[in-house]
Amino acid sequence: MLQDLLNLVFFDGCVSCGNTLAKGESQVCLTCLSQLEPTHFHLKQKENDLYFRFAGKVPIAGASGLFYFDKKGRFEKLIHAFKYKDMPEIGQFLGEYFGETLKSSSFLEGIEAILPVPLHPRKELVRGYNQSEKIAEGLQLASHIPMQKNLLKRVRKTETQALKSKSERWDNVADAFAAHQKPPKGVLIIDDVITTGATIEACIRALMAQDNPPEIIKVGSIGVRKAM
Ligand SMILES: [Zn+2]
Repeated sequence: MLQDLLNLVFFDGCVSCGNTLAKGESQVCLTCLSQLEPTHFHLKQKENDLYFRFAGKVPIAGASGLFYFDKKGRFEKLIHAFKYKDMPEIGQFLGEYFGETLKSSSFLEGIEAILPVPLHPRKELVRGYNQSEKIAEGLQLASHIPMQKNLLKRVRKTETQALKSKSERWDNVADAFAAHQKPPKGVLIIDDVITTGATIEACIRALMAQDNPPEIIKVGSIGVRKAM
């Protein structure tokens, strides 16, 4: 408790291990980063575990995630600090890292806009920020592809997905989103963590319901839960 409080006030160390950051390091030290488990999905964007969560259900041109949730919980710790401890800079950092990773492949070719999954306004007010938007900001910085944060809107408040089964997750988010502007030809939808993919699937369906739906839709997240 006291440590948490001290961290909040004086924190300048690695958010994962707490060690002092070296020059050039930001948010997470290089040692901790090297212990996380990268998915490398961008190198096989239509042949990976994440892609197959959407294939056959919605049109998707590629899927990638930055890190897996590892058994030791290293990545979980980062995500927890990012989402629940008022540390939006972790998301920006990981988004930028994700962008640099994607740039080493053809994954971003044809992408004209980054669309963060919207949060319900009330939820955003409580958290102080939309976590997907923070990741998209980092991604924008690395890729120079603009983020369009108002294209997708959450039109219905949903319950948290955490304790729901696969089918309950879908029922919970179906029709929760709508596209409020004409989408560009190529878009990348960004979420913080993808589990079943139900939230992203609902976003894709909202885009496809437009008169001129995008021709290229890709999805990405900084965290991928291994298949349920
Ligand atoms: Zn560390």
